[in-house]
Amino acid sequence: MKSILLRRQFLEFFQSKSHAKVDSAPIVLKDDPTLMFTNAGMNQFKSYFLGNSEPQSTRVTNSQKCLRVSGKHNDLEEVGKDTYHHTMFEMLGNWSFGDYFKKEAIEWAWEFLTEVLEISKDNLYVTIFEGDKADGLVKDSEAYEFWKALVDEDKILLGNKKDNFWEMGDQGPCGPASEIHVDIRTEEEKAKVPGKDLVNQDHPQVVEIWNLVFIQYNRKANGSLETLPSRHVDTGMGFERLCMVMQDKTSNYDTDVFTPIIQSIENITGKTYGKSEETDIAIRVIADHVRAVAFAIADGQLPSSTGAGYVIRRILRRAIRYGFTFLDVKTPFIFQLVSVLAKQMGEAFPEILSQAELCKNVIREEEKSFLRTLEQGLGMLDSLMEASSSKTISGQKAFELYDTFGFPIDLTSLILSEQGYKLDFEAFQKELAKQKKRSKDAAQTSSSDWTEVGSSGTEEFVGYDQTEIQTQLVKYRKVTSKKEGEQYQFVLNKTPFYPEGGGQVGDRGVLEFKDGSKVYILDTKKENHQIIHFSKTLPEALDEEFTAKVDVSRRQKTAANHTATHLLHQALRQVLGTHVEQKGSMVQADYLRFDFSHFSKLTAKELQAVEDFVNSRIEEALSFEEERQIAYDAAIEKGAIALFGEKYGDKVRLVKFGNSMELCGGTHVKNTSKLWHFIIKNESSVASGIRRIEAITSEAAKAFLTKESQVLDSVKSILNQPQDVLKSVESLQEENLNLKKEVEQLNQLKLKQIKTELQSELQEIGGVNLVSQQVDLDAGAMKDLAFQIGGEQENVFIVLGSKAQGKALLACYISKSLVESEGWNAGKIIKSLGKHIQGGGGGQAFFATAGGKNPGGIPKALEEAKSLVEQKSTEG
Ligand code: ATP
Ligand code: MG
Repeated sequence: MKSILLRRQFLEFFQSKSHAKVDSAPIVLKDDPTLMFTNAGMNQFKSYFLGNSEPQSTRVTNSQKCLRVSGKHNDLEEVGKDTYHHTMFEMLGNWSFGDYFKKEAIEWAWEFLTEVLEISKDNLYVTIFEGDKADGLVKDSEAYEFWKALVDEDKILLGNKKDNFWEMGDQGPCGPASEIHVDIRTEEEKAKVPGKDLVNQDHPQVVEIWNLVFIQYNRKANGSLETLPSRHVDTGMGFERLCMVMQDKTSNYDTDVFTPIIQSIENITGKTYGKSEETDIAIRVIADHVRAVAFAIADGQLPSSTGAGYVIRRILRRAIRYGFTFLDVKTPFIFQLVSVLAKQMGEAFPEILSQAELCKNVIREEEKSFLRTLEQGLGMLDSLMEASSSKTISGQKAFELYDTFGFPIDLTSLILSEQGYKLDFEAFQKELAKQKKRSKDAAQTSSSDWTEVGSSGTEEFVGYDQTEIQTQLVKYRKVTSKKEGEQYQFVLNKTPFYPEGGGQVGDRGVLEFKDGSKVYILDTKKENHQIIHFSKTLPEALDEEFTAKVDVSRRQKTAANHTATHLLHQALRQVLGTHVEQKGSMVQADYLRFDFSHFSKLTAKELQAVEDFVNSRIEEALSFEEERQIAYDAAIEKGAIALFGEKYGDKVRLVKFGNSMELCGGTHVKNTSKLWHFIIKNESSVASGIRRIEAITSEAAKAFLTKESQVLDSVKSILNQPQDVLKSVESLQEENLNLKKEVEQLNQLKLKQIKTELQSELQEIGGVNLVSQQVDLDAGAMKDLAFQIGGEQENVFIVLGSKAQGKALLACYISKSLVESEGWNAGKIIKSLGKHIQGGGGGQAFFATAGGKNPGGIPKALEEAKSLVEQKSTEG
């Protein structure tokens, strides 16, 4: 069965059981500080389990793009080596939010596998949680009983806490799990070893395909468990593994999910899959990683040098390195696989189709630059080997290569062993561990459980309409981190504070209490659909009402900049074309930043046109219009712009200024005239095919223009208030250029004069023509002079001295003939002469220079030069 059909069949099966089908959430998480990437189907539903928000439907089914490359779930190092773990994979899931529980979850999973897909029951094994003493949990006999009705008892196995108790993180919802494993070995092998002995033993053909999680507890900060008021089901089935089973293959990579990509790799590299383990691993790594990287880019995460972007960059680099080392490809090629991927996955995930061009460009540039790094690293490794006498490269050096230049350690060790060198791997590991500890320490945070305070209910955001309200605390907790120290987080009953999101910074402000005390809010963020207010202090009276006040001036300026990004977006699409898509934005009080897709640098004319366009919209004084609860489809129909990689609900907020229409949750000014003026400060490149504009409006624009005009005033006053400043500066520049030319000519003349003088004072001592004089020229002129005289005169020995800005210079020139006949060496002589000026120097046998800090010593040095020649002549 084709993979496309299989995915459809799963979703349809659960739709027939009254589940609502929902889209996959983006693979890159934007509003969850605890996670970089979606690593399980449940991530997007976390707030339902936590009770922070209400689901629209209590039964849901989906296919979720997951990425397991960081944090708690990290399969990166396994990928390629085995045949059933991927970095990016799809998780098919069915969900109950306080609706059905173990019985239905188990029965439907079994029905789908054995009746719809007709997988033989003989090949299936299930596990249930055996209990855990430390947690005071007994065996999940509920699940056992439900399974017993469907499966032979000897196929129901007990699993420990590691495999069969699922937890979201250190804290939060959790519960026992029941896994389904499938045995796809040959009958022969099955006869030798029973399948149940291989469950959870990392056998590539006895693998877990589906995990049914029964969420019924909450893990508290102190490690204890409490029972949740309502119970949920969270299941996840590996789509690629299911394809393997249904297509009668023994590797995920042999299914139609991967074969087109693998074929394409074969065509490009000329290697064949299935011939040698080394090449096969490399091909699998590349086939897998290109998916992860392309999907991340399509969802808005570009490779970069920090955070989530760095993780993506490292995945791509791992692929490049495997291609470089094992497939012998030294030029970019992975980018070419994007088209194959887009064609194949485009139906289920349209973003990969529409973003294919961008993915290709970005991957190609990354490949180019990392291949350069690899070449450089190889060069450095060569010199390290040359310099090593012991045939061992130290761990520190290898770490430097790895850490500073991004040169992979396994490549280092491979090359070293090929060349008969050793690597001090232990020392390398130590360095690596040190670095890991450093970054872990820096990132460490711990939080207490939430303490509920009187007022309850779901939190309401009223900040679109009000910036000051009477409200109360719902709950608070203490959070400690290396970076911020101790902080308190509050959830309010109603809040006017805008939480960071959509590129816009979170509000700051104050909570004012009746007794006059104040608690300052330093930042506001969203976490699992809750609005969290950050503060350094805890209010004294926790259950009292207070006035929550947003810092209005900061909010106004931020709102002006947010409105400006919408107008800028519109302007760019107008001026450059509709291929322009927003790729990121940062909206602060004093500045805004807008990243967008476009292939080339903007010309001065284009920038001017963009600026003019925005300023015209400001002059038109367009008023803000919004529709807060419009259906997503209706908004798109109207022509509203939605952003890629953004997760929208069914109901969205539409923000309009004239013809600019965007789906947006941010805060805006009531009228574009509030922006006062829009000024582009900078235009640059962020990545291949992505440009960035930085701009200012309102107060910042005023301040900028005021400062510019002050500078201009000062310039005018320096220039004695000319009629035309520009002209006057231009003529100054011209004058300056002419003067420079004149000085140059004069210098040449001076040099000529000195040369004639020196030549006339030339002394002949025993066949040597000696010049030893103080000339006070700069180093370049002295050299010129010495070479000119040396070129015109035979057998010269020239020593020149110069004093400039309290420093001394000496130059010594000796004709080649003298160097040969007398064995003189300017380099050596200058060292000795240099002592008189308290300095040092060096050079070649026929020309050398010295610098020193004692100009008073120049005559002595010239004296010594002369006596050297005299001495030689008497000796001769
Ligand atoms: P495994 O022990 O095989 O790594 P897991 O216990 O990490 O699996 P879960 O977290 O329970 O898996 O995820 C649910 C399902 O997702 C698994 O049953 C499996 O089919 C699939 N899955 C998990 N990790 C991967 C991966 N890296 N690549 C492909 N499929 C995966
Ligand atoms: Mg795993």
